[in-house]
Amino acid sequence: MTDFTPISEVGEFGLIDRLRDALGTAPSDDLVHGIGDDAAVVRIGNGRVQVVTTDTLVEGVHFDRSFMSMGLLGAKAIAVNVSDVVAMNAAPRWATVALGLPNNVFVEAVETLYDGIAHACKQYGCTVVGGDITASERFLVSVTVIGEADEDTVILRSGAQPGDLLCVTGDLGSAAAGLKVLLAEKDAFATDDAQPDLRQWSYIVERQLAPHARLDRLQQWREAGVQPHALIDLSDGLASEVHHLCHASGVGARLEAALLPVHAQTFKAAERFDDRPETYALYGGEDYELLFALPEAQAKKLPGDSFAVVGAVTASPDIVIGMPDGATLPLEATGFRHF
Ligand SMILES: [Mg+2]
Repeated sequence: MTDFTPISEVGEFGLIDRLRDALGTAPSDDLVHGIGDDAAVVRIGNGRVQVVTTDTLVEGVHFDRSFMSMGLLGAKAIAVNVSDVVAMNAAPRWATVALGLPNNVFVEAVETLYDGIAHACKQYGCTVVGGDITASERFLVSVTVIGEADEDTVILRSGAQPGDLLCVTGDLGSAAAGLKVLLAEKDAFATDDAQPDLRQWSYIVERQLAPHARLDRLQQWREAGVQPHALIDLSDGLASEVHHLCHASGVGARLEAALLPVHAQTFKAAERFDDRPETYALYGGEDYELLFALPEAQAKKLPGDSFAVVGAVTASPDIVIGMPDGATLPLEATGFRHF
């Protein structure tokens, strides 16, 4: 008799491990890095590689059409994929877009979605070269982006070394705080006469609806002659991504709660919803900022306002966080869970 395992029992990453086993190994000289990083890396000759990543946004799981416009949805579908290309220190080049469309979606809405896709692609220097459209019960947008880089400049998750600083770009938890505000205002959104006043939340709402991939930071690192040892993008929350980076590198980490960069509106949202701002910063997903490990001497070459140090890589495998009261707590890997 066959035993059936609910996906919730193994989780997204456990399922990926089992599927990798199902595929078996297909050794190829051209494959630099397969499943297990932000994107796969394949050689294309002359010291160049392509990186390949796919990410899907599904209605009811990743977005809500009552507060996500089609244009923003298109732009976000591109940005979240470009973010994974950026997390390899590569430049986005080509994209394909697959759509699953329910029959209550109009042509004009799909055109607006593509306006958003075109706008984002232009911003990141990438071109849509094809795709697929199918009928679907739920609206979904699945994007594949291919990027390019010199093989010796690709940055994996696995290069962090004890003593490296752990740094992040931007601020943390804003997208999660923005989602909380949007969900709280959702009822008001549904009625025509009572549009909610979101001005006081404009920054965090934008972080949720219109995230940007940090391609700008790669340029800055190149100009400063800096190459982090390890790099990952923050799609599932800092706590979860620190675990991914440390496990891949065979190291531990110590974060400091007092160092987490949190925007004033995120603080305000935490106050309003009786949450802790650190909870948003550590466990809130969808910031699409970068987490990277680099030696202190390298960090000194970067503009001080372009990143924040949140902790350090340790030789001990433990992943812990120092709290403002002096306590040291284990940092759980909890991030956004699909199952
Ligand atoms: Mg990623």
